[in-house]
Amino acid sequence: MESSPLLVLHGITKSFPGVIANEDVDLEVYASEVHALVGENGAGKSTLMKILYGFYRADAGEIRLNDQPIQIRSPHDARRFRIGMVFQEFVQIPALSVAENIALFLPHLPPVPNMRRLVRRIEEISKRYSLEVNPTLPVWRLSVGERQKVEVLKLLLADAQILIFDEPTRSLAPHEVEGLFRVFAKLRADGYAVIFITHKLQEVLACADRITVMRRGRVVGTMARAEATEGRLVSLMFGTAVAEPGSRRGDRLPAGVRPLLELRHVTTRAEGQGMGLQGVTLTLLPGEILGVAGVSGNGQRELGDVVLGLERCSSGTKFLWGEDATPWSVAKIRASGVAFIPEDALSMAAVAGLSVLENMALGEVGRYARQGGLSMDWDAVGADLERALQRLGFAIPARDAPLRTLSGGNIQRMIVAREMARDPRLIVAFYPTRGLDVRSALAVRELLLASRDAGAGVLLISEDLNELFALSDRLVVLFRGQIVGASMPHEITIEEVGYLMTGSGKGDEHDART
Ligand code: ADP
Ligand code: MG
Repeated sequence: MESSPLLVLHGITKSFPGVIANEDVDLEVYASEVHALVGENGAGKSTLMKILYGFYRADAGEIRLNDQPIQIRSPHDARRFRIGMVFQEFVQIPALSVAENIALFLPHLPPVPNMRRLVRRIEEISKRYSLEVNPTLPVWRLSVGERQKVEVLKLLLADAQILIFDEPTRSLAPHEVEGLFRVFAKLRADGYAVIFITHKLQEVLACADRITVMRRGRVVGTMARAEATEGRLVSLMFGTAVAEPGSRRGDRLPAGVRPLLELRHVTTRAEGQGMGLQGVTLTLLPGEILGVAGVSGNGQRELGDVVLGLERCSSGTKFLWGEDATPWSVAKIRASGVAFIPEDALSMAAVAGLSVLENMALGEVGRYARQGGLSMDWDAVGADLERALQRLGFAIPARDAPLRTLSGGNIQRMIVAREMARDPRLIVAFYPTRGLDVRSALAVRELLLASRDAGAGVLLISEDLNELFALSDRLVVLFRGQIVGASMPHEITIEEVGYLMTGSGKGDEHDART
């Protein structure tokens, strides 16, 4: 490794409304190294890399390349400085060939590029870096792994020397991951700098030369591979914070009670970015909060969707209230007493153009319809909304305003109010406090606890381990669509859950079996 870094980020700070995504971040990247950037979701990794790629401007701090200060105001600038980024979502045109997609990305190509020459160049570089993909195939024919190779080819052909990969292994099969690491090794040998974002510690230990850990917007450690252990990385990633004790029931759960919800060996189809559920078995009892920990993308969405009837089980059985509910429609499931508090309320459970009041009525059209559906009882809707908001201690000023004019926190409150107004017996809460200010988040948590105490069951899906430890009576961990751990919160540490979430520990046994 060279003695002076190729790239230095110094004192980088970046705020978004209500959150400091990066706080006084320092990072050094050398030529001929694979530098892993790890941290929980929300730690600030993508923001830092988007600053480096000119997507965002930092509020403060400087970037130096070869010891010269540089200004990166746009991705165009970044590419001029030979910095390239492979995003989680590729921008490719499915109907065009690999070569045509690459041609579109290359800045200095003549209006009518010599495709035959380009195809030859692609073939050369593909071969050299193990990025085999047929340049003449249309992109829609390619697998996710192959499309990722196209992205790397684009950057190499555009002469990038610093290559940023934002969670490139997220949707890759294990053998494709190994292939990608071989690509990294070749790039390193040829003097490239690779910055590799991931959650998975085994991957870090398998391929990185140096590792930087971020937590809550800050760099909390940088070390050489030789100094890194899983234990050290986990405690840096998740902190050693002791969870709040909460008011859980834990062992006092009554025995022999009929579960509200039971999944038996439920498997769903893997599609797109999702990996589906792989034989998930779990039960939720009345008066219980079951916490589901996991890095998002490991089957959480599918789990929620299966319970709500939005996704079918390709095998396995789902019971609600002791009945086989596998074939039930969404409407039937909701009418039977299941409520849903989604992660992104605006896109998943609400309509931006409708007013607060109209959104309130959405989940319950049948209940408010009058004259056989010809009109709506808006007074009843308003009264229910009022009642629900009061119970939650929320104030929403303009109930006739279109929802899109509300802040994210207010939209989330509105959805929580709507769902809780139905006095549900089972609540699927999907990252329920994400985006809420502290006071609203507390109110939502108290509400979940109160519902639990009143006998409802809560399936609490979250990445926030402190929240999960504080609220859950029992915890399970989802990794790659499987449950890789189950425990009472007081019998397991945050670090142990962190291990399971990142594919260490018990996760291995499951991988080995598949
Ligand atoms: P990571 O990539 O480590 O998961 P991010 O950099 O995406 O983390 O996010 C860091 C924090 O900044 C999070 O709290 C996230 O919600 C917030 N954030 C990221 N991008 C934006 C944005 N465009 N607007 C508002 N907040 C954002
Ligand atoms: Mg990210």
